[in-house]
Amino acid sequence: MDFGILVEYYDKVESTRKRLEIIGYLTELFKKLKENPKEADDLEKIVYLTQGTIYPTIMEQPKLNLAEKSLMDFISSYYAVNVSKVENILKKTGDLGDTGQKLAEKKSGKKSQITSFMGMQEETVSVADIYNKLEEISKIQGSGSLDKKESKIHWLLARCKPLMVKYLMRIITSTMRLGVSDPTIMDALAIAYLGDKDHRTDVERAYNVHPDLGLIARKVYDKGLKGLEEVKIQIGTPIRMMLASRLNYNQILPKLGGEKFLSEYKLDGERLQVHKDGSNVTLFSRRLTNITEQYPDVREVIKKSIKAEKIIIEGEAVAMDPFYEEMQPFQVLITRKRKYDIEEMVEKVPVCLFVFDILYIERDGKEETVMDYPLLERRGIIKDVLDESEKIKLTKGKFIESTDELVEFFKEARAANAEGIMNKSIDPEESVYKAGNRGFLWVKLKSLEAGKMTDTIDVVPIGALWGKGKRANQYGTLLVAVYNEENGKFELLTRVASGFSDDDLTRFLNLLEPFKTKSLPNSVICSEKPDVWFKPGLVIEISGDELTISPKADAGKNYNNQVREKGYSVRFPVFQRIRNDKEIFDITTVDEIVELYELQG
Ligand code: AMP
Repeated sequence: MDFGILVEYYDKVESTRKRLEIIGYLTELFKKLKENPKEADDLEKIVYLTQGTIYPTIMEQPKLNLAEKSLMDFISSYYAVNVSKVENILKKTGDLGDTGQKLAEKKSGKKSQITSFMGMQEETVSVADIYNKLEEISKIQGSGSLDKKESKIHWLLARCKPLMVKYLMRIITSTMRLGVSDPTIMDALAIAYLGDKDHRTDVERAYNVHPDLGLIARKVYDKGLKGLEEVKIQIGTPIRMMLASRLNYNQILPKLGGEKFLSEYKLDGERLQVHKDGSNVTLFSRRLTNITEQYPDVREVIKKSIKAEKIIIEGEAVAMDPFYEEMQPFQVLITRKRKYDIEEMVEKVPVCLFVFDILYIERDGKEETVMDYPLLERRGIIKDVLDESEKIKLTKGKFIESTDELVEFFKEARAANAEGIMNKSIDPEESVYKAGNRGFLWVKLKSLEAGKMTDTIDVVPIGALWGKGKRANQYGTLLVAVYNEENGKFELLTRVASGFSDDDLTRFLNLLEPFKTKSLPNSVICSEKPDVWFKPGLVIEISGDELTISPKADAGKNYNNQVREKGYSVRFPVFQRIRNDKEIFDITTVDEIVELYELQG
């Protein structure tokens, strides 16, 4: 496919905020590949580029690794303008894509005069050409790499018309953010290749066990539903994790069948999905990134303590005191998050892996996908294969038959430094491991207080108002957003103006400086007009009195295929702390806000 055609679709997608329209454009794009099988080779590439990347997001691949500054240098040398001019345009547009497009427009004005004068045809460039060149750039390493990258970027710029330059720049700087989330792409794949949006669930099932949308698109393109059935669990490929909902403590027993369920400690550590293949152990984080390097001790203990050739289990790595007698809170575990001196930290902050689930096992040459077994059977298998020690244990669990027992167990868990309890259905039919699902088979409980916002939420500042008086020249108020997974946008939740110490205010100035931008960023929906805009970058935690509905808030105005006049907001928001350990996509989602709001009753 011609890259020019692809970016025209991107431009249409970007021009609307309506999810159904976006799905419509993508469906048209995918159908085009069906009508034109010659172009279908580009399918995976188109899917990755649409996700704003060149490789499946779960794969550890070289990154394009080009700093904005280098790219600005390359653009300025290509278009023969001073870097300061590029900087000026960037200041005005706030986006390197738009900046590149503007420069390209100026140049192409001149060029098209020459080509038409000489009767020359303009060159076209295919998606594959662009993709392959980007792939080459991602693999360049070592001395002189900047020069090599520059010449390849120039090669690309020479072939791209202004609109192509815009999206090319955004792909290179990982700021595509078309508002196309993975579920949106799946909807379009279902309609284009399976004829019906209802088939999105089939696409999603495959995606949950193998979250590589390029591969999934290929399967469904080639073989339809059969292709999707071929997608199986693979050791070394992370599976999207099952998540929990929340309820008030007195709603849990009725929701979990009314008679009996299993309650486990909700441990305050980091979730790990462990893939063991012989002596090869890989650890994935909740965001499905490979974090094996951070836990050499867990890798060793897995090799020693699991009696199965191959296995996929999940558990929570929790920091322990040096005598393994007490669990330590997450703040202690986080001190291990570093690139260097990991071994030293392994000694200082030992961890125990509390295993709570199993998804796959191969024993005595027999393989079993056990995700679909009921919970108690899965726990039974863990007991069979696990040699418990101070470094690895089955998570403590208790059968609960009344709300009084639940309250009792909650208090016990809190006294043992757990965050609360995780309540799990033991229904013999229903209680399977639902990959990628946040349903009511698992219900978390972190507080016994009902009807209030007992949990803190994680948000990103997207704007600020300058302070007055004592706070002059500082950000007195932050506008903060939550993440809407449906449209891939960060949406205004509330203003936060309290809870800041003088130190916090100074830190905000510094920490937010790199994210300052001239205008409303592409990835943000915010109807207010702050003095300063920020691209989502810094994560902070806030608390509040309760969730409310407000016409001023944008969070959730466009949710579940409905457009509302009011969004979700927070009453009396108070800043708690900066969350350097979290990335912007880890913050509280609109989905969770809606759930919390409904909980308040
Ligand atoms: P939250 O992050 O508050 O949505 O809670 C879900 C997280 O709790 C999971 O991703 C796990 O990291 C963690 N967790 C702690 N203990 C358990 C447990 N016993 N079962 C499942 N998840 C647990």
